[in-house]
Amino acid sequence: MRLYTFDDYRLGAQADDGRLADITDLVSADIAPRDRMTALITHWDRLASQVRGAVRSPSGPALFDVTVRAPQPRPRTLLAAPVNYLRHQAEMGGDGGVYADADIKTIASYAGFVKASSSITGPDGAIEIPFPDRRVDHEAEVGVVIGRRASRVPRERALDHVFGYVPLLDITIRGEEDRSYRKSFDTFTPIGPAIVTADEIPDPADIAFRLSVNGQERQKSTTRHLIYDIPRLIELYSEAMTLEPGDIIATGTPEGVGPISPGDQVVLTVEGVGELTMPVVERP
Ligand code: MN
Repeated sequence: MRLYTFDDYRLGAQADDGRLADITDLVSADIAPRDRMTALITHWDRLASQVRGAVRSPSGPALFDVTVRAPQPRPRTLLAAPVNYLRHQAEMGGDGGVYADADIKTIASYAGFVKASSSITGPDGAIEIPFPDRRVDHEAEVGVVIGRRASRVPRERALDHVFGYVPLLDITIRGEEDRSYRKSFDTFTPIGPAIVTADEIPDPADIAFRLSVNGQERQKSTTRHLIYDIPRLIELYSEAMTLEPGDIIATGTPEGVGPISPGDQVVLTVEGVGELTMPVVERP
């Protein structure tokens, strides 16, 4: 199932003919529009069969006729894995690296950090560059959306807590400030266009993805190269904090990160999950 948030934060599920089944009414009318996806995921066990029924006879608009928003506009917690690919570690600290000669460690040392949920944007938005004189990089990542509350979950059972996957960009200002600050500017976490439910992804340990800027390929990898794979990330983070339905984990970026500037167009393609196209603009 491919799940969307569109127009006035309505909920949609994609049918085979490319139209959307409008499933907004499956969640309570009392729910704030931006929290509807969280509600859908929270009650998924009860609602999934109704969503499947709606997809068989879609009543909603065609996808190209709507404004596609971030599919999950407001996770309670947005977590991210720092330096979770060895070749990315090498490029950051190596000769000519962003932090040349610095002692760059890996996720085994850094564990994780939190991004502000307010940094999320979607295909309807743009990556806004806040300071013209500072380097801002793209980081191509696979986002994991939590489905069932996870507290101290061992890796063997971790995938039972995954709702789905989403293309995710972890946009970053380089510099000396804390990661959470540098990666939490408004628009610095584009996600979408859809959340794809876990049943559609045959092997989360080998999700291929690639990123291009202005048509030129910059990053290409697969989750096979993660230092901490997805079950290990859920084990690690749920040991510290309770993960709730709708929370998102950014799993880390491979080698090939590089600067972006106003006027660029970034395209992230995650195999079997979707393609996210984002323009880059100066902050208005
Ligand atoms: Mn990252």
